[in-house]
Amino acid sequence: MAVTTREHALALDAADPLAPLRGRFQLPEGLVYLDGNSLGAAPRAAADRIARTVTHEWGDRLIRSWNEAGWFTAPARAAAALAPLLGADADEVVVADSTSVNLAKLLHVALSLRPGRTDVVMERGSFPTDLYVARGVLVLRGGRLRLVDGPDDLPGVLDEQVALVAVTEVDFRTGARWDVGALTAAAHTAGALALVDLCHSTGALDVDVHALDVDLAVGCGYKYLHGGPGAPAHAYVARRHHAALTAPMPAWFGHAEPFAMSTDFTPAPGVARLAGGTPPVLSLTGLLCGLESLDGVTPGQLQAKATALTAFFVALLDAHCPELTVVTPRDAARRGAHVSVAHPDAHGIVQALIARDVIGDFRDPDIARFGLAPTTTRFVDLVTAVQHLRAVLDAGEHDEARFTARSAVT
Ligand SMILES: *Cc1c(COP(=O)(O)O)cnc(C)c1O
Repeated sequence: MAVTTREHALALDAADPLAPLRGRFQLPEGLVYLDGNSLGAAPRAAADRIARTVTHEWGDRLIRSWNEAGWFTAPARAAAALAPLLGADADEVVVADSTSVNLAKLLHVALSLRPGRTDVVMERGSFPTDLYVARGVLVLRGGRLRLVDGPDDLPGVLDEQVALVAVTEVDFRTGARWDVGALTAAAHTAGALALVDLCHSTGALDVDVHALDVDLAVGCGYKYLHGGPGAPAHAYVARRHHAALTAPMPAWFGHAEPFAMSTDFTPAPGVARLAGGTPPVLSLTGLLCGLESLDGVTPGQLQAKATALTAFFVALLDAHCPELTVVTPRDAARRGAHVSVAHPDAHGIVQALIARDVIGDFRDPDIARFGLAPTTTRFVDLVTAVQHLRAVLDAGEHDEARFTARSAVT
């Protein structure tokens, strides 16, 4: 049986090469934060940097800051810092907009790259915004969204009408991870393109878009990249598609020379042409702080830590909370960096834990989710979390009315 003692956890922390990373983030004393998969902890540098951007760059220097403070180059600097975490080259990545907006753009790109094909394949359990966006784009383009329940269903739907297979690598509910390399190969064999949503991957797992051979990818800035609430997202387009890459919504920050104020759109090199309007400088400043806090860390190191944390957490749950059903795959290769349990009172459990300063989150209908961000999570935090979880279950706190009431954001 796995060793799950506090002493063992402390030994794992002492031997963890990423342990020093936690010091780069602001985390309240005594809080066990297991929700970095929804909102990553604030980099220590962020408060001062954003304050300086407001008071000095905006307040004192005003419009001059576009040049002298590097506001104009901030999206490209963010893309360059982010590219190694994806296994991509800098000019294959654009930092802009939200994941939803980038997904809409890349769906248009994919459909345009596969003329004559009209349909898109996605998973039924996709993050809802991904489904909404895809349906919206397909209404405009006159195609059909075909839903599958898992990888086994793919061969049955891949035919000459399918332009794109788009999946989220790590399921936001269960933490199950698709074999994106295999999926991409299947899509390519059928003449389709492959897009992967990396929202629960970038900054947590060993992402390598070149090795996976995916055509397109989108990802999130405020989760494992610690960019701050609403931080800009990212999009990737493989170099082999750049020559035929048309911006579906050409906008001036995707122009080769925005300030030439030309009436014609000349696309910027590479994926930068997919940028939209004026970048959100304050949010970008937060994202740059998040990316700096990951400086020097490889995706492989993040993956190794995520694997060790999730394995330890599952062992703790097995040992101490056998009445909870772990819905996250036990095979480390088949899961991401969060662990989910199913329980009819999952909402009450999560709220009771939050009252005890152990923050996870709830996902409808019955999932309690614990994100083990490799940047900030210590093994010893997991022992503390499971002790509180045991106490909640023993005392029946999850049934108390104050914990069963739902807020707008769960
Ligand atoms: C977090 C997340 C999003 C968020 O999209 P936004 O447009 O940035 O709000 C989209 N898709 C998935 C899979 C996510 O996990």
